[in-house]
Amino acid sequence: MRLKGKTALVTGASRGIGRAIALRLAQDGARVGINYRSHQADAEKVRDEIRAQGGEAEIFPADVSQLAQVQAMFEAVQTQFGRLDILINNAGITRDTLLLSMEEEDWRAVLQTNLDSVFYCSRAAAKLMVRQRWGRIVNLSSAAGHKPNRGHANYAASKGAINAMTRALAAELASRNINVNAVAPGMIETDMSQNIREMAADKILPFITLNRFGKPEEIAGVVAFLVSPDADYITGEVLHVDGGMRG
Ligand code: NAP
Repeated sequence: MRLKGKTALVTGASRGIGRAIALRLAQDGARVGINYRSHQADAEKVRDEIRAQGGEAEIFPADVSQLAQVQAMFEAVQTQFGRLDILINNAGITRDTLLLSMEEEDWRAVLQTNLDSVFYCSRAAAKLMVRQRWGRIVNLSSAAGHKPNRGHANYAASKGAINAMTRALAAELASRNINVNAVAPGMIETDMSQNIREMAADKILPFITLNRFGKPEEIAGVVAFLVSPDADYITGEVLHVDGGMRG
């Protein structure tokens, strides 16, 4: 229970990696806020699962790409939790398509959801954390931010920017005892990667040293480490959790 007494907010926690992170932080003793945009029943299941295991969880619906909704969410967090120690910027989408067929809407939706949200949520969280003189922020990046492939210039740009922003925020917030890190997953078994895994497993697996896709829990464990006291001396890092991705 190394996070006993801490409160955490996980964006995009109704499904996939965010769900696994919410469950894991709750198992480690944190009181967890579950954010989601559209899958309310799934978010309720995550909350109920945490409560059934004796943990504490509340739901905070908001589209994190929209500033007004983020502001309202943080007001609700403050009202219900009274503080925020840990923010996990996890919500993300893909709109993969080659550059020549990429519409402005594909570009904007991905940048707003994956990157603007990190700005809105980190700023709101930092306001609370600065007062407490303690905070941990973890951003979900991607292997695509480092080694992009064809067909996702929007997604790769959002994740590359998250890596740079992680280092910038780490430098800015260090004096207030707020550590900011990123985790860059490879191919993880969630809804987001389902099509690619089904259509191109034989092409992708040879480039993964461990020769398998990752599980959401394997990302959650690394996030839990980064917000734990064991990682107090780590900030501004982008940790690659990709089974040894090459090429
Ligand atoms: P996922 O299974 O598609 O789940 C995405 C989550 O984000 C859902 O809970 C969704 O909530 C939420 N979400 C999407 N847009 C939102 C918005 N505007 N406001 C609030 N919540 C929103 O995705 P995932 O695979 O778990 O990915 C999680 C993170 O890991 C993303 O940042 C992704 O880029 C990154 N990542 C994933 C992989 C992978 O292979 N899966 C690899 C590298 C990086 P609702 O459905 O309720 O709207």
